[in-house]
Amino acid sequence: MELPTWNYLLNLPMQTIKVKEKRFEIAIPANRIAQRVEELQAEIYLNYQDRTPIFIGILNGSFIFMADLLKGYPGDCEMDFIKASSYEGMESTGDVKEIMGLKTDIEGRDIVLVEDIVDTGLTLEKLLENLKRSKPSSISIVSLLFKPEKCQADFKIDFLGFEIPNEFVIGYGLDFDGSVRNLKHIYRLQES
Ligand code: 5GP
Repeated sequence: MELPTWNYLLNLPMQTIKVKEKRFEIAIPANRIAQRVEELQAEIYLNYQDRTPIFIGILNGSFIFMADLLKGYPGDCEMDFIKASSYEGMESTGDVKEIMGLKTDIEGRDIVLVEDIVDTGLTLEKLLENLKRSKPSSISIVSLLFKPEKCQADFKIDFLGFEIPNEFVIGYGLDFDGSVRNLKHIYRLQES
């Protein structure tokens, strides 16, 4: 059986891909992501141990990270998702829309918000404000990536995967106008 070929992978060296006329190069390879996600799982478990946190994934970007982070989580936990969006193309619009609300009752519970990337921080700030109204007993934040140069928000990331420069990244759940979430490495936009 022949493997499918993707048009943006054709005629380019393996480290580089072309998506919608833009070139991207590998920034964080899949094996490094996997290693860091395993470490984060252990850090989070050590923090919660015999408590039962509710992990809330922020869709769409966090779905792969959330699955890898919680696969084999050694303690008891619950999971839910919330959908938010503030990005168009390669820029944050700052206008955060909460598209899908939470159904789980979080009053008195320990919440772990799972985000793919914190850029301006506006998405998380708005979601935190909303979640706090439901009176959880605690909220902590885990984010795979953080761009400190652009962050305008005032909250602490309790569990962080990688700090990255102010570059547009794709793959491992992160999209470029809806595409390429399925790439297993994280890529950065190449300087043109
Ligand atoms: P913020 O509100 O912190 O500016 O942006 C958060 C959301 O914007 C993230 O959940 C993610 O969906 C999107 N985002 C921020 N930076 C990037 C980036 O470099 N690449 C991609 N694909 N999405 C990003």
